Amino acid sequence: MSTTIDTIETMRRLFGFHKFRPNQAEIVNAILERRDVFAVMPTGGGKSLCFQLPAAILPGTCVVISPLISLMKDQLDAVRALGLSAEYLNSSQAAREQARVTGQLKAGACRLLYVAPERFAMQDFRAVLKRLTISFFAIDEAHCISDWGHDFRPDYLTLSEIMRDFPGTPVAAFTATATESVQSQIVHRLGLRSPLTVRASFNRPNLFYEVVQKTDEDRQVLNFVRSRPGQSGIIYRTTRRDVEEMAQFLSANEIPAVPYHAGLEPAERTRNQEAFIRDEAPVVVATIAFGMGIDKPNVRYVVHADLPKNLEGYYQETGRAGRDGDPAHCLLLYGFEDVPRLKFFISKIDKREPREIASRKLQQMIDFAAGDECRRRRILGYFGERYRASVCGACDTCQGTVEYVDWTERARIALASVTELEERFGVCHVVDVLIRADTARIRQLRHDDLECYGAGTDHGKKEWRNALNEMISQGVLEQSGGMYPVVRVTRKGRTVLEGRATFTARRPVRKVEAVVHTPASEPDNPLFEHLRDVRRRVAREEGVPPTTRQQVDLAVEWNLGQSFANERSR
Ligand code: ADP
Ligand code: ZN
Repeated sequence: MSTTIDTIETMRRLFGFHKFRPNQAEIVNAILERRDVFAVMPTGGGKSLCFQLPAAILPGTCVVISPLISLMKDQLDAVRALGLSAEYLNSSQAAREQARVTGQLKAGACRLLYVAPERFAMQDFRAVLKRLTISFFAIDEAHCISDWGHDFRPDYLTLSEIMRDFPGTPVAAFTATATESVQSQIVHRLGLRSPLTVRASFNRPNLFYEVVQKTDEDRQVLNFVRSRPGQSGIIYRTTRRDVEEMAQFLSANEIPAVPYHAGLEPAERTRNQEAFIRDEAPVVVATIAFGMGIDKPNVRYVVHADLPKNLEGYYQETGRAGRDGDPAHCLLLYGFEDVPRLKFFISKIDKREPREIASRKLQQMIDFAAGDECRRRRILGYFGERYRASVCGACDTCQGTVEYVDWTERARIALASVTELEERFGVCHVVDVLIRADTARIRQLRHDDLECYGAGTDHGKKEWRNALNEMISQGVLEQSGGMYPVVRVTRKGRTVLEGRATFTARRPVRKVEAVVHTPASEPDNPLFEHLRDVRRRVAREEGVPPTTRQQVDLAVEWNLGQSFANERSR
């Protein structure tokens, strides 16, 4: 179904974008046709436009439900900068301000209203809504309604009542992370009525992933940052102290870096954040408290100087790089000494189930960092997406040379054990059985009596983990969803097991030296530099972050390099 010229024209006029990004057109169309929507789109995929554009077109007010009160002001500023009337309502506002907003709403003078879910739970708020024309509900971070995900918020459960109280109003739910099982729980709990369902690819083709062994993180980060003069980047550290120390170290070496963590005075935190957003400080050293809801399009690199605790976090944080679509670099410094600290944090989690989930996720993170499979394939696989190309070309392992090895024998041993274990166990247990591990679980389940017990002692634990991962990514084994994924033999796997097919693994031959990937040499382009200066100034004068759009507008306005503007707005 094609988007009308009018919709595209409105997008161009309001947002300055010339084309839709993948999936945006379908979602916007569905909302305009008053259909429910469920969309999983990665960070930076362009979710905001999907509800802001229909909100600008449809009569009435779009109610946006968003979990974090602290981000509402930023969201509001961004929407208002587009020229749309918008308000938010939350508990941080004085009664008089709340009354003013309610007045605006009743007067029909508000295209978008941002509220947190606890507001929606209030009966008198709902009574106000019932008297308004509501174009649709947009639910951001919709995975918070699912207790199978990683960010459950009980407040979100009241959103199940939208359907009952506003039966004629469409609902569009968005999230950046949802496995299939979380997805079905969201759709069910919200009661979406045969929604348009979109699962965008999580692939971020412009990001280069690299993992380097951590030897001396200060030096490594300094060299990395020095090789990218003038570029904007985020360096993540686990502890506040490391944040402070690294920011000082960089500053002492003539890299203006500001620290950011939850322990700073709010005024200083805001000042540092703004300095970074406005390109006044090119580098921010931060804990993961930094970045939520920040839309800075031109972040050119994200460095993790410590191991993140899971791949979701790693993906979210690296996702802050390259939102403008230009090449950006993600460097992870991996040292095994980070692991005990993370394990210690995990051991402090009270409840058993969350503790086990956290520790499984940490193991997956370690496998990612220690493994030598294509990084992109591994990340996408984690989110349940199959990456088909054999070499992505934009990660450290894919830049090395690749060799193909016959692993048929190894695969058959693994497939036979999975079968003997009746496809009821996860990767770890299968590997333990193969290598003849003596675990309590094995003894308790009597798996030491099985034929496959010790069938793989020719190889070590890590090799078997790699083998199983490779088999999963090639679709010879599959992993179930849910809390405790088990591995099963696929149809393709049966052909290998029964001797009707062979199994070839793709093994990268790692380079010894870290790859230093130099993106297109933009800083050498005088026009780019000039526009960047102007953009910084304009942003400061308007008190908003510098955006690609301002840059494009300026380029067009001054008739400066039309091709440059086209290039940027793609
Ligand atoms: P998300 O909320 O999915 O993380 P955003 O809505 O913040 O992503 O969009 C990410 C970036 O992409 C923003 O800088 C936004 O301006 C830009 N963007 C969104 N849609 C388009 C488009 N159609 N063309 C060009 N840039 C876009
Ligand atoms: Zn790759």
